[in-house]
Amino acid sequence: MALIEVKDVRKVYRMDGVEFEALKGVSFSVEKGEFVIIMGPSGSGKSTLMHILGALDVPTSGSYLLDGREITDMTRDELARVRNAKIGFVFQGFNLLPRMNAMENVELPMLYAGFPTAERKRKAEEALELVGLLDWADHRPNQLSGGQQQRVAIARALVNDAPLLLADEPTGSLDSKAGAQVMEMLVSLNEKRGITVVLVTHDSNIASYGKRVIGVLDGLISSDGSKETVESRV
Ligand code: ADP
Ligand code: ADP
Repeated sequence: MALIEVKDVRKVYRMDGVEFEALKGVSFSVEKGEFVIIMGPSGSGKSTLMHILGALDVPTSGSYLLDGREITDMTRDELARVRNAKIGFVFQGFNLLPRMNAMENVELPMLYAGFPTAERKRKAEEALELVGLLDWADHRPNQLSGGQQQRVAIARALVNDAPLLLADEPTGSLDSKAGAQVMEMLVSLNEKRGITVVLVTHDSNIASYGKRVIGVLDGLISSDGSKETVESRV
């Protein structure tokens, strides 16, 4: 069974009585263990698609099965539960809490999920170790470099053992060296731990890290292929 199965998803925004179709019928699936890049220019519908894949929003029509469960007719509460159980999020702006240290930031999702203190600590240490930042556990975000902050955010995204890691322009705030390190880390987590990664970017250099690139243009999928296929077309 695919981890993600999107079928004919449309999203219509209504503003001041005017309708705008941001997604015009999008279909694809992602198997467990895949590393997929969703690439397209600004305004193509990437954020809209990301919000739907992340169960932050529901489509206007169409179907989205996440790990076998239809999410399109779920209530807000059900969506929140699915997000907590199934998805780790990584954002362009890191979204770490500034007054908490790295360890406390990583513990947060487990706090919401009601894990006991000792288990929270153990799992947070494990996740920080995985991203090479155990020695920085007591540092606050402003005491860390951008690349380190994003690695803390990756640890936080992994700590609940969510099967899906969704990354929205995760290197967008980083210089190219730190960006490359973050991408290499995501690739290695995918290869060594089998975590399914879906990453949205407008940057073709970043897209070259993906084994499969789905192109989005004007609310439609314009291409979907392995890296080799995409490169041989250029
Ligand atoms: P991308 O992430 O590729 O830049 P978006 O999904 O943000 O694309 O936007 C796709 C199109 O939908 C854009 O034309 C954008 O202006 C429009 N759009 C996005 N969100 C909304 C919204 N909440 N209300 C109205 N229009 C929106
Ligand atoms: P990002 O910078 O993460 O790609 P966007 O700038 O696309 O995010 O959108 C930021 C927020 O504003 C999103 O929640 C999106 O749905 C909303 N939005 C985007 N375009 C429009 C628009 N034309 N009208 C209203 N809301 C929009």
